[in-house]
Amino acid sequence: MTARSTTAETTRSQALFERAATVTPGGVNSPVRAFHSVGGTPRFMVRGAGSHLWDADGNRYVDLVSSWGPMILGHAHPEVVDAVRSAAVHGLSFGTPTEGEIELAEEIVGRVAPVEQVRLVNSGTEATMSAVRLARGFTERRKVVKFAGCYHGHVDALLAQAGSGVATLGLPTSPGVTGAQAADTLVLPYNDVDAVRAAFAANPGEIACVITEAAAGNMGAVAPRPGFNAALRDLCRENGALLVVDEVMTGFRVSRAGWFGLEGVAGDLYTFGKVMSGGLPAAAFGGRADVMSKLAPVGPVYQAGTLSGNPVAVASGLATLRAATDDVYAALDRNAARLGELFTGALSQAGVEHRVQFAGNLVSVFFTADEVVDYAGARAAQTWRFPPFFHALLERGVYAPPSAFEAWFVNAALSDDDFQVVADALPHAAAAAAAAQEGTK
Ligand SMILES: *Cc1c(COP(=O)(O)O)cnc(C)c1O
Repeated sequence: MTARSTTAETTRSQALFERAATVTPGGVNSPVRAFHSVGGTPRFMVRGAGSHLWDADGNRYVDLVSSWGPMILGHAHPEVVDAVRSAAVHGLSFGTPTEGEIELAEEIVGRVAPVEQVRLVNSGTEATMSAVRLARGFTERRKVVKFAGCYHGHVDALLAQAGSGVATLGLPTSPGVTGAQAADTLVLPYNDVDAVRAAFAANPGEIACVITEAAAGNMGAVAPRPGFNAALRDLCRENGALLVVDEVMTGFRVSRAGWFGLEGVAGDLYTFGKVMSGGLPAAAFGGRADVMSKLAPVGPVYQAGTLSGNPVAVASGLATLRAATDDVYAALDRNAARLGELFTGALSQAGVEHRVQFAGNLVSVFFTADEVVDYAGARAAQTWRFPPFFHALLERGVYAPPSAFEAWFVNAALSDDDFQVVADALPHAAAAAAAAQEGTK
């Protein structure tokens, strides 16, 4: 059996993929969904409930992607679906303020201490774009420091050496981003405090902000070294720059208060998305009130959105956060640890060199003997072992992220039966990874 042979029926997904490709580039609305780096047919999903997804051919999967993070409660959680339904029957969008927006803002501000005010937007990309604009407006400086392998959405200035799909496709940056947009972005190795210190020294009075993932999850799970985030905070303070902490992935997932809740290092600005949306398009940026008050209509930095604070999306996010109790966070941590143990067991048994890494309850497996602390390390791993590993899981009903550079996202709905499905599939996946040859998929 090769990695590509499939026991699962995929006729309908295949037909849908071909039809999609005629009207949508690559057949998908976000690149990593196309399975380019793993090959094979992307599964078109028709239904989700709890920890499971069903595709157009009727195959069931244990979902270890959770819509790339948002679905911490599992799919179609009854309280969230009810909240969305009740909001929808009262009207889909008014273009006016609504009380729900206050409640969602209060929930976020109440959870993450350094966040005094937030503004709601529609995507994580919009949140980081707006936060960077605000940091530049507040400091009256141009340059932005980002880290290789961190992904902050597809903001022009932040695509350089980005993680997520940009890493999956092996792009240094993107055509269409002008030299001027990229020139003000300084890209440094993650977890390298000396590089940040040197950048400040080489660009005195010019750096508006350092933007970092609170814990890197878009080159696989790469936690900040102890003291790294605190050093960023201190260097920013000493040099009059702002620290923008991107918690779009970690926020409200790795703890009630996101990565801040685990580490307690305060940034000046924060970005959120994914979990706080409950699965509908909603995101936010926020932080120090004196910085946020530079935003229009109180201040001069412009930012707006026709559908920002949409009542249905807000209802979904609010219901999700309200249902995300301490028990849910305990379940996420437990499930991540359990998944990690299963990886280690199966891969060790098959003699495959690997590292299971965690960033809070984000998990990933790197095919390398060395701890991965930055993007160079993530890229040096034997990523060619990943496609057969992925397909062996997929064939056996386990939906994993279709890229070696993405974290795995557990949800709180995963059951013992689900872990049995994963445990039964993993030895086959580990064997496929062991048999993989460099240069083939
Ligand atoms: C997903 C993600 C984004 C982008 O969010 P979108 O809603 O996809 O635009 C930004 N930053 C991080 C850390 C992310 O994981």
